[in-house]
Amino acid sequence: MSTLLVKNASVLATMNTDRTEIVDGGLYAIDGFIDQIGPTSTLPRTADKVVDLSGHVVLPGLINAHHHFYQTLTRAVPGAQDAGLFDWLTTLYPIWARMGAEHIAVSTQVALAELALSGCTTALDHLYLFPNDSRLDDEIEAARSVGLRLHASRGSMSLGESDGGLPPDSVVEDEDAILADTQRLIDTYHDPAPGSMTQIVVAPCSPFSVTPDLMRESAALARSTGTRLHTHLAETMDEEEFCLETYGRKPVDLAESLDWAGDDVWFAHGVFIDDAEAQRLGSTGTGVAHCPSSNMRLASGIAAVRRYRAAGIPVGLGVDGSASNDASNLLGEARQAMLIARLDAAPNQSGGELMTVRTALEIATRGGAALLGRSDIGSLEPGKTADFIAIDMSRLEYAGAQHDPVAAVLLAAPTTVSHNYVGGRAVVEEGKLVNIEIEPLIERHNALAASLLS
Ligand SMILES: [Zn+2]
Repeated sequence: MSTLLVKNASVLATMNTDRTEIVDGGLYAIDGFIDQIGPTSTLPRTADKVVDLSGHVVLPGLINAHHHFYQTLTRAVPGAQDAGLFDWLTTLYPIWARMGAEHIAVSTQVALAELALSGCTTALDHLYLFPNDSRLDDEIEAARSVGLRLHASRGSMSLGESDGGLPPDSVVEDEDAILADTQRLIDTYHDPAPGSMTQIVVAPCSPFSVTPDLMRESAALARSTGTRLHTHLAETMDEEEFCLETYGRKPVDLAESLDWAGDDVWFAHGVFIDDAEAQRLGSTGTGVAHCPSSNMRLASGIAAVRRYRAAGIPVGLGVDGSASNDASNLLGEARQAMLIARLDAAPNQSGGELMTVRTALEIATRGGAALLGRSDIGSLEPGKTADFIAIDMSRLEYAGAQHDPVAAVLLAAPTTVSHNYVGGRAVVEEGKLVNIEIEPLIERHNALAASLLS
């Protein structure tokens, strides 16, 4: 048995059902799960490990519900800097086609390192192309060295250019092979138990890169294996036009007709969802991973997150990218979600209430946990995992913001976290990654990135 005592936090925001915030707070964890939480004076006096977080705000670890780790290799590519989604993709597909196993492994570590330093404790990655010798196994094994929880999507593309799809034929796969490999990965890696570090998600890429058959077969596979379903949907007007021209249906309608509705399904983006569609998604518990920076970067549109939540749609947060963000900074993304929701509330937009800091933090914690189907993460409560982050309020960015440290985390400039714990184990201590050496990783990543464009 190993025990952990966290004490003296200026404020500990639990994100529990009552949204309790504890002054001079702390928690006591046994074997990675929270046993007690409350004011420091009420907790055991000692433990195997004691972390004094005086002067820090403590939050549940943030959850990233949509990402493509490999895209860290193609950030700021000149030809893709100022393009909308379809032009951006067709510029980058041939570059991505040159990747191999090492690109996947190294980019996974880079993305997870940046996520960890920006407060993420659990990340979903959507890997949907497997060029040369690359496999999802490369990502899963590389992720273990960083220490965050990983939901690894076995993504796929099967509808190449010659069949009317967007991606070049060189990056699409045979559908039987996709389904067989997905089953293999589930059998090998998927762990649904509380405290799980690795889960597999079934994730065809998008309506314009897979066939309706593969969507339907993927849904059946996920339901027969108890795994979850994820795809890009209703991201851009180009996609909506593609769906109407090709299938005579809008994206949400198409997805529903292919068995893609339910509380085991979540869509990335969901920018173009009208009121009637939102009501339907809400009634089935189908979720949306909101990716505000990417939606701004690609000029896709504003996802009406306040309206979706009012309709009962579970909403989480994703950094997307990192070639359409181009950051893997989850605290920064929570801030963007709050700011774009406020822009959407402007008098010449949708109007209405301003999104609060605490709602944005809820989307980034509890919201993500709901999308990933996890009841063991997303808030700090007895029985849940000891996944938390701590931010040093003595930093320059927070000077003058001590009136409300929790609000300062998103209202002031996004920073890196001082501490990041996953299941009671340190991933970041005193602002430094514990498990990996960052300088050689950046050097290798830069060399691999350069080779893709040479
Ligand atoms: Zn995406």
